[in-house]
Amino acid sequence: MAERADVVVVGGGVMGLATAWALRRARREVLVLEQIRIGHTQGTSHGAGRIFRLAYDEPEWVRLAQEALGLWREVERESGEALLELTGLVDMPLDPGLLVATLDACGAEHELLDGGEVERRFGLATDCREVVFQPEAGIVRADRALSAFRAGAHVREEARIQALVPHEDGVRVETEGGSIEASVAVVAAGAWAKPLLADAGVDLPVVPTRETVAYFELTDRRPVPSVIDYGNREAYALTAGTGLVKVGIHRSGPPTDPDKAGIPDEGIVRFASDWAARTFRLARPEPVSVETCLYTNTDDTRFVLERHGPIVVCSACSGHGFKFAPAVGNRVTELVSAATSRP
Ligand SMILES: Cc1cc2nc3c(=O)[nH]c(=O)nc-3n(C[C@H](O)[C@H](O)[C@H](O)COP(=O)(O)OP(=O)(O)OC[C@H]3O[C@@H](n4cnc5c(N)ncnc54)[C@H](O)[C@@H]3O)c2cc1C
Repeated sequence: MAERADVVVVGGGVMGLATAWALRRARREVLVLEQIRIGHTQGTSHGAGRIFRLAYDEPEWVRLAQEALGLWREVERESGEALLELTGLVDMPLDPGLLVATLDACGAEHELLDGGEVERRFGLATDCREVVFQPEAGIVRADRALSAFRAGAHVREEARIQALVPHEDGVRVETEGGSIEASVAVVAAGAWAKPLLADAGVDLPVVPTRETVAYFELTDRRPVPSVIDYGNREAYALTAGTGLVKVGIHRSGPPTDPDKAGIPDEGIVRFASDWAARTFRLARPEPVSVETCLYTNTDDTRFVLERHGPIVVCSACSGHGFKFAPAVGNRVTELVSAATSRP
């Protein structure tokens, strides 16, 4: 006889685990199935940190980040772990007026600074005449966040879902070890989601890319704010521990197959090294390490959170999803409730 479950979550990255956290708070029974192991380095959620910020040009994203900030604080209280390190964000925007107007409209704190002030306060160099400093920003400690969401979750590792078969009473989840009959399946499978959903008759308009990031040593021991430089191919930086900074170029990687081994892009490493050397006081110009990570991109960086009968899609990436994870978990929980509510 097939195993039975209330909600099966496919994927144990940050979105799957945050969804399991939110579903448990809504008193749902959840089983998370992860094809590799939680915290593995072949997907999108691994590593020490991701930028947290309220600063977006569009008010919808600012409000979602504000909602997520409150929820991250709840996860911190529950887990006893410090998950946010709010060293601020130095945003080097193309249109400072637009960003300031949006932050004002959403009641998000910010300051306009000139280049001299940025240099004095943070030891950072910029060509921009005006930058926006946003204090409720910095990083989410990614690896700690995964552990906090995982605590208390029912997780099965090395369990790859081969197919999802929706039917009248729910969905059959097929694994190598047998079938599970669930009321709802949430697909939070990151860069692997598209073919799995296609086989179940759901089109997910995303393209996985392989992104390169590099780590640099700093001479400065002061806390490093996160940085986004929109005029320089959207180069970004975030603290990776005292005296270390992680640097990447947003959405710069080629389309990829998530099952293939990742090779860092030398051109990106060169661009990141030049930008880091101009922006930070580096102890040495070459990176101390380089790695790759997968983006799952929509054409306009939106997230796809939608329900198709007993299958709920949770694809929240385009390289900016992590900060929103607990808020995404709540949205997905609403979709799961809709899937199981009787008329
Ligand atoms: C270089 C880089 C920098 C980023 N910077 C930021 C940032 O500064 N701020 C920010 O907010 N966001 C950032 N992001 C984005 C953020 O990390 C992602 O939005 C988030 O991690 C996506 O998580 P996920 O759970 O959807 O995907 P994943 O972490 O990839 O999780 C999906 C999981 O599903 C599993 N899986 C897949 N198929 C199956 C199957 N058939 N059966 C079982 N399990 C399966 C996979 O093994 C994987 O563990 C960045 C991403 C990258 C790559």
